[in-house]
Amino acid sequence: MNRATMKSEITKRVALLIGDLASVFTRMKRYNFVGEDIACNLCGDHSHDIVGTHDRYGNTLRVVICTNCGLVFLNPMPSDAEVDLFYTRYYRKLYHYTCEPRPKSILRAFRGAKTRFVFLQPILSHKTRLLDVGSGGGEAVYYFRERGIEADGIEPNEGYARYSKEKYDIPAYISRWQDAEIDHETYDVVTAHHVVEHLHSPFESLTTFREWLVPGGYLYISVPNVHDPDSTPFGRFHFAHLYYFNRETLIMMALKAGFEVSDKLPGHSTTIVFRRTETPSVDWFRFPGNYVNMAQFFKENTNVKYFLSRKPYIRWVRRMSHLGGDILKATFWDGKS
Ligand SMILES: [Zn+2]
Repeated sequence: MNRATMKSEITKRVALLIGDLASVFTRMKRYNFVGEDIACNLCGDHSHDIVGTHDRYGNTLRVVICTNCGLVFLNPMPSDAEVDLFYTRYYRKLYHYTCEPRPKSILRAFRGAKTRFVFLQPILSHKTRLLDVGSGGGEAVYYFRERGIEADGIEPNEGYARYSKEKYDIPAYISRWQDAEIDHETYDVVTAHHVVEHLHSPFESLTTFREWLVPGGYLYISVPNVHDPDSTPFGRFHFAHLYYFNRETLIMMALKAGFEVSDKLPGHSTTIVFRRTETPSVDWFRFPGNYVNMAQFFKENTNVKYFLSRKPYIRWVRRMSHLGGDILKATFWDGKS
């Protein structure tokens, strides 16, 4: 590397580092949406209690829990068009100042891909056709393909999807899941890693994923668990997360959409592998006590209780050391796995 190239490389890395630090502040800005009053996407009920009035940055955000099934969601809910606008115009830029993934995100994505690959081993073989929904910069699809899985991606953000094709030469549909032209019964496995909580219509998305799967195919879903006693109460809600699941609501939604929890790989918490069943279950309302349990959980796990415990202080130290390590590592990383 000559001096001029090295200088320009250093300038680029420093700019990325500054961008990373600046994004910590820009993400606090609220995305303004009007939204609409909606029924529960799981059970269709209209009655709910308010469980949150602000997001993690102090912006107004109304979050409710369905008093029938315990599903937690934004209400008013941004409309489909508002969600689209957010993802096509704001989301990636808001987080990263760019329409391409940043080194820190790529580093984390590869780390996540490896964990997911190891986790999914019991249901993978060299014949597996896999679709990664919300494939982002394509790291997981690339990682899986390098290990003999016939993986494709689908990503609505054009910048990210194009990046994944150019950088890793992987097949990716540049499309929203609603518009994707994917033949029925094409895939053995569909994965949606931290995707479903961002969707306007999670139940409808699950029924579509089911159509893309062969009979008996597997659906891997991982979403944040709103019922996590170790999570920060004030950090629970974020306007990019439209739905907040616990294991019970995620299972009920999957049963209703035509899945069962896989015997082979039931997962844990809100990381679950489901298996496509012949028909959607009419008997999907398996956890009638979920609303009461969740309401109790929100009542008990308050900010005051949290700050009086040791949790936030230990967590902050751990987080800062991870964040600092990742930013520094990504700044001097060569961009390969
Ligand atoms: Zn409900």
